[in-house]
Amino acid sequence: MRMDETPQDETGALLLAAARRAIAYRADPTAHPPATDYAACLAAFDGPLSEAGEPGADVLDALVARAEPGLRASVGPRFFGWVIGNSHPVGVAADWLTAAWGQNTANHFAAPAAAAAETVAARWLLELLRLPAECSVGFVTGATMASFVALAAARGEVLRRAGWDVEAQGLFGAPPVRVLIGEEAHASVFSALHYLGFGKASLIRVPADAEGVMRPDAFEDLLAREVPEGAPLIVVTQAGHIHSGATDAHERLVPLAQARAGWVHVDGAFGLWARACPARAHLAAGVEAADSWATDGHKWLQTPFDCGYAIVRDAGAHRRAMTIAASYLPPVSEHERDPSHYVPELSRRARGFASWALLRHFGRNGIAAMVERHCAQARLLAGLLATEPGITVLNEVVLNQVAVRFGGAVAGAPEGAQGDALTRATIAAVQEEGTCFAAGASWRGRWILRLSVIGASTTDDDIRLSAQAIIDAWRRVASAAGAL
Ligand SMILES: *Cc1c(COP(=O)(O)O)cnc(C)c1O
Repeated sequence: MRMDETPQDETGALLLAAARRAIAYRADPTAHPPATDYAACLAAFDGPLSEAGEPGADVLDALVARAEPGLRASVGPRFFGWVIGNSHPVGVAADWLTAAWGQNTANHFAAPAAAAAETVAARWLLELLRLPAECSVGFVTGATMASFVALAAARGEVLRRAGWDVEAQGLFGAPPVRVLIGEEAHASVFSALHYLGFGKASLIRVPADAEGVMRPDAFEDLLAREVPEGAPLIVVTQAGHIHSGATDAHERLVPLAQARAGWVHVDGAFGLWARACPARAHLAAGVEAADSWATDGHKWLQTPFDCGYAIVRDAGAHRRAMTIAASYLPPVSEHERDPSHYVPELSRRARGFASWALLRHFGRNGIAAMVERHCAQARLLAGLLATEPGITVLNEVVLNQVAVRFGGAVAGAPEGAQGDALTRATIAAVQEEGTCFAAGASWRGRWILRLSVIGASTTDDDIRLSAQAIIDAWRRVASAAGAL
């Protein structure tokens, strides 16, 4: 088939139909607000398992008809919910090919191109984030698994130094490992730790300041009081707090931890990307001295879901924690990097293709400009909202996250329950109206609207439109509640 011909075969027709559907959707994702909720989607998808099966083209039509009414416009320009990148078209195109090529990315012999793309994307990533060149990188599903992988390496290494081989002996009977972590660390890190045997009650939690970062004095004090000299130690820090965007004071914390031979792991799901932007890099200064890092591709790099990176300075510790060996797999080699030696999975998607494509597409300057633009847009959004009586921006907007409270600052309006109720009502009104999307969260006992500016397609006009929509929603809620 020539590239400009309409394919006559079934495979070609099916893939072209899928491409046409995807192109139509991406032309304006905001033209399809989710018309239905989960229950309606469930009813639409439901039905008996087919006995005889159905032709592919019919199945595709049925899939689109059921899915499109239930899609959230997270690839659109005014989506500020959670922390979600745009699934950038260059990454999507690479990912279509990834699926079509069907490579099983376990090793360099089974999937030479996929393994090579990962090796090079890993090198570019370390350069971009200004992390040590000797680090190994595992391509995982997201930052949760990246923290799991890196903390498995940490656990193995701090125990190995204490004379215990956790890969051989397991955890029962091992010397206790002390884990210091900020009390406002991301929920996923607590999950990663408990998958590894570090139960939530066993952690030493460091009090946080108003921006949610660890107080260095409290950290130093707990290190002295709770960690015996010579005890195996893991310290978990954060670059990019989920509500404030703030980053722990690595220049102070990392030397304290390393003076006690501690392994420092950084959850930098999105905040690590400040390092890719000269104007923002100071926010994550000192992070490079840590031992491991977790970050995402599907946030600031805009890769399609799913993609995260587990980055470990000690590649040997990384491999000891993850390597899968079998007679039919290539042995560990100095020369050929096998993707499966750095992640929990054996068979998996070739995530390196989309990562390589997007890093190449944006380039160093493109990524720096995007990060800087998002930070400026977050400040613009916060500034516009803060001019409205009754709206308070709770965080110092240093990065791309904006935490907003409604009602609390109005003279005479009580904090607490009423502020929570007004904030919840405003969030519902914003979602109902539909100009933009964002969602709520609880921060230090208060309900907030959290806005995350991270989509590649967001313009300053989108920010202005969204700010106005949020202000209008608040005015409706406030006048109905008599709060103004
Ligand atoms: C998103 C996020 C995570 C979890 O990442 P996933 O990609 O969802 O697994 C962890 N930490 C922070 C700070 C995040 O923003």
